[in-house]
Amino acid sequence: MDAALALLVFAPALALGSFLNVVAARLPEGRSLVRPRSACGSCGAEIAWYDNIPLLSYFLLRGRCRSCKASFSARYPAVEIATALLVAACFWHFGLTGEAVVGAYFCAALVVLSAIDAERRILPDLIVLPSFVIVLTANMILAPERWKEWLAASLGASLFLFLALLAYPAGMGMGDVKLALLLGAGLGWTVSVGMMIGMVSALVASSILFARHGLAARKMGIPFGPFLAFGAIVALFVGQPLLDAYLSRF
Ligand SMILES: [Zn+2]
Repeated sequence: MDAALALLVFAPALALGSFLNVVAARLPEGRSLVRPRSACGSCGAEIAWYDNIPLLSYFLLRGRCRSCKASFSARYPAVEIATALLVAACFWHFGLTGEAVVGAYFCAALVVLSAIDAERRILPDLIVLPSFVIVLTANMILAPERWKEWLAASLGASLFLFLALLAYPAGMGMGDVKLALLLGAGLGWTVSVGMMIGMVSALVASSILFARHGLAARKMGIPFGPFLAFGAIVALFVGQPLLDAYLSRF
């Protein structure tokens, strides 16, 4: 537990969240992450540095463009605050350790993937696969004695979703199967907890949609990625106690 450290990383993590917004908007379209500078999607006005301060600018401008008053997506502040809170939580929970750095990377990847999946119903390989390799390698270096766990959890989680995809193709896609590789590499055995929470929360959300909109809900097709990400993040922080509590019942 390291509250001071968490406070220290909060502002840089907000800036990281701001960069993840650029990634979420540009990477799926194959645009450069560096150039040009950010501009309003409606009027094309370049966004000045003082209007591009994470979180603060969005609230000062009430989520609107300074020039044309078109409203910006609530995705911008949501991604910034989620990234900052999760990165801070990693350093609070794991202290100044390699685990905290890997956890922060893992959370940041899941935030940007959730934002993209929610908007476009895709989980880009360009983020999922390199992140899988990075997280797997980092965990192999940090905890080499658990190498079988990292590998088995990755492949097992992915195989599980692949079989589920064969059984119920409407529910998800190959993007989710590849995402499970990353989840297993980041979580080890507690990936089971993460997947369970992800599936249950997706089920609850789709039941609510179904209850509200009836058959029309089937066409809305809620993306599975953000729910898997949510389950994985819960598992990252409290997966082990949850798994121990569950296993102690037998
Ligand atoms: Zn504008």
